Amino acid sequence: MKITFLGTAAATACPLVFCRCPVCREAWRKGGPDFRRRSSVLIGEDLLIDLGPDVMSSAFDFGVDVSGIRFLLQTHSHSDHFNAGHLITRMQDYATEDILPLEVCASPETLRHMSEYLALEEPGADLLLPEWQERLNLSVHSMRHGDMLVLGNRRITAAESNHDLQDGSLLYIIEEEGKTFFYATDTMRLTDRTWKLFRERGFAFDAVAIDTTYGPGTHGGGHLSADQAAEEIARLRAEGVLKPGGRAFATHISHEGMPLHRELDQYAKAHGFEAARDGLSLEI
Ligand SMILES: [Zn+2]
Ligand SMILES: [Zn+2]
Ligand SMILES: [Zn+2]
Repeated sequence: MKITFLGTAAATACPLVFCRCPVCREAWRKGGPDFRRRSSVLIGEDLLIDLGPDVMSSAFDFGVDVSGIRFLLQTHSHSDHFNAGHLITRMQDYATEDILPLEVCASPETLRHMSEYLALEEPGADLLLPEWQERLNLSVHSMRHGDMLVLGNRRITAAESNHDLQDGSLLYIIEEEGKTFFYATDTMRLTDRTWKLFRERGFAFDAVAIDTTYGPGTHGGGHLSADQAAEEIARLRAEGVLKPGGRAFATHISHEGMPLHRELDQYAKAHGFEAARDGLSLEI
């Protein structure tokens, strides 16, 4: 399974537009791994997790053809994960040609919120109405915690996230040809029901990407900090849910208490994981 991080930032991206702190100044000056776009991940060439606001520019920067995407797993509808302006351009009204069919997976709440954002772009647009699904050349899969779905040669399982209950935010487990990847942002501590799901289904992950929004010791709302992410990863390893030698990556990396990439990566490696960066592509 090929995994490409198109973006590894939280909602603010990094550097922040107006910030003059040493980290932002260094990120502007040097770019590279300290320049982070909003989080999204491409699996293979055709499965995208989160149609975020930076997908187009990061695809260009990293030489990825996003027009071949056939499957979209949407974790939730927050603006750093879903850009309705990108999705609405699937309509023929935008003079589009040769648009491939798209299968969209999300919770019912997220689908409803995505529709509301779409309707701001195009009055009346509704992902749940067959006429609009036809106009957008897509189909929709509504998923709840524990639901499993086969998409092409992959098996997708949804797990609940306590990040935003109103939005029904989800985490996704992707299985492809004997390899398993767990994409776990945005989230706080994994829930008891999620740990139970891992046990009952006997998951053994080859790789994990986990919410690491705040720097070590900086605890904010709705997300994990680097020390909390380290603890979740340690538990995944201890319980055998992350295979021996399995790789774990910090993603959704924000600005609050967060050092430069090099230092975060050193911290992560001392705690059994690594810091992802935009454009990182790996084969598991
Ligand atoms: Zn987010
Ligand atoms: Zn700053
Ligand atoms: Zn969010």
